[in-house]
Amino acid sequence: MVDAFRCQICAADKLEEIPDYGLLPRVTSDAKPWPGGGRLSVCHSCGAIQKLPDQKWREEAALIYRNYEMYHLSQGSEQLVFADSGAVSPRSQHLVDYVAAQLKCSGAGSLIDIGCGNGEALTNFSRALPDWKLYGTELTDRALPSLQRLKNFAELYTVSPGEIAERFSLVTMIHSLEHMAEPLPTLRDAAQLMAEDGTLFVEVPDIETSPFDLLVADHLMHFSRASLGQLADRCGLAPTALANDMIPKEITFLARRGGGQGLGGAASSGVEIAHSTVRWLVDLMSQIRELSDKSAIGIFGTSVAGMAVYGAFREHVQFFVDEDSSRIGRTYDGKPVMAPKDVPADVPVIMALPPNRAKKAAMRLASTGMRAVCPPPLTAEAMN
Ligand SMILES: [Zn+2]
Repeated sequence: MVDAFRCQICAADKLEEIPDYGLLPRVTSDAKPWPGGGRLSVCHSCGAIQKLPDQKWREEAALIYRNYEMYHLSQGSEQLVFADSGAVSPRSQHLVDYVAAQLKCSGAGSLIDIGCGNGEALTNFSRALPDWKLYGTELTDRALPSLQRLKNFAELYTVSPGEIAERFSLVTMIHSLEHMAEPLPTLRDAAQLMAEDGTLFVEVPDIETSPFDLLVADHLMHFSRASLGQLADRCGLAPTALANDMIPKEITFLARRGGGQGLGGAASSGVEIAHSTVRWLVDLMSQIRELSDKSAIGIFGTSVAGMAVYGAFREHVQFFVDEDSSRIGRTYDGKPVMAPKDVPADVPVIMALPPNRAKKAAMRLASTGMRAVCPPPLTAEAMN
């Protein structure tokens, strides 16, 4: 057990560090390769999977944010959601339409997006909820000029949520909670911003369907539905939706005031997920090493998974493959991003996707002649 840290969710002194994690390459959440050497742990009391926020983690996260470039590979255009069918839609539009449909309220309200970035979600909310007043919070006011172009934008706060006096019908945290150094007080402060009958909406990566998320250096928490549910309960929130099949690889969470049920999760399932995911990543890296010792390789995918693999096998990688037309034809580190149909047939292409998605993509693209190499199965059961 790790002495210096307590669980971010249940405060128990029962964190087990998983040493093999330190062997794995990492990546930043804006998809740039990052050196290995991180520290991962899992709580034996509640099952929450979390990095250890030591001095090094804090310094690394600060450095990553200083150099942050959202969607740098697609030149600022938003990451698309790929259904297994190959159909695409911009991610936050999809989410915003879902949340707006769940609100079931007519008329005007107010919304605050915590960690609103450049306003991708607020732009979509502005379209979906034209009569609502929109607010945001961010570390700096850098995005203010572009936010002010939204016709129902009201205010950007650069103070912490705990210092905001106003209350809101909808509080949103889209891809921010997993970054926070102190998730419990952060979510508690967000919950305080809700009006009495308000709704809270949280979107985070799902560790159960997104194994590569463990490699994201600046993600402190790697939530499952169980651990997010427990955290929310401790923050006085009662879930109205807690799903990992809305957006691929993500947890979509909606809540109202309530909670305090003392939700206990099965700690053992979190412990099992943490260990099996690290083992899977270690196996995947040795599979790729074996292959890249014999031949040049390509990498399918230019988001976090692809870039984590790239960082570890840089000198062996000849090209990237992507289906996102905003990325095809660009280069990263001098290596081309190619469409599947243009890939040389003699170079194996590592499918940097969770196993099920890799298999589906490989089948869908079989006719292109691309030599797809899928990762090994993920769960212990599937290996038998
Ligand atoms: Zn815990």
